[in-house]
Amino acid sequence: MAAASTSDGAAAPVVIERVTVLDGELDASVRVTDPRWFRTSAVPGLAEEALRVLPGLVRHRCDCGSAHGIAAELADTEVPHLLEHVALELAVLAGSPRTLAGRTRWDFARDGSGVFHVLLEYDDEAVALGALHGGVRVVSALLGVGEMPDVAEETRRLGDARAAKR
Ligand SMILES: [Zn+2]
Repeated sequence: MAAASTSDGAAAPVVIERVTVLDGELDASVRVTDPRWFRTSAVPGLAEEALRVLPGLVRHRCDCGSAHGIAAELADTEVPHLLEHVALELAVLAGSPRTLAGRTRWDFARDGSGVFHVLLEYDDEAVALGALHGGVRVVSALLGVGEMPDVAEETRRLGDARAAKR
């Protein structure tokens, strides 16, 4: 399920290498393809743009100990940590409860440099997977690579997929 490039041919900054479905949680191996994309601070104004595209991010809380609030946290953090929050927010917009949590961790010595694990709790596996993939496109666009997806359309489609199963 890895994509080596975006639809316009530019190198993808973030690639999902593997997703393991655990009980109630996805474990996504996410590779940041170039060290220059490791941190969101590579792109000035990225957090403001993220909050413009996904205003609900302002309601997120982090266990990372930052006393500065989510905007400051997202302005200077690991790009996969941003992906964690973006994917959770997309899932919320597709009808998942806001109480679902995520975690981002990494062990470069074990997994290789640039490989992060983004763990996402889910209530609906398909919605979470869709939110993860949509999140990669949103984060890529925030990094200046590829088109920003139509978030309203994406999340409506994800929500419909959930509703269709009921
Ligand atoms: Zn966080």
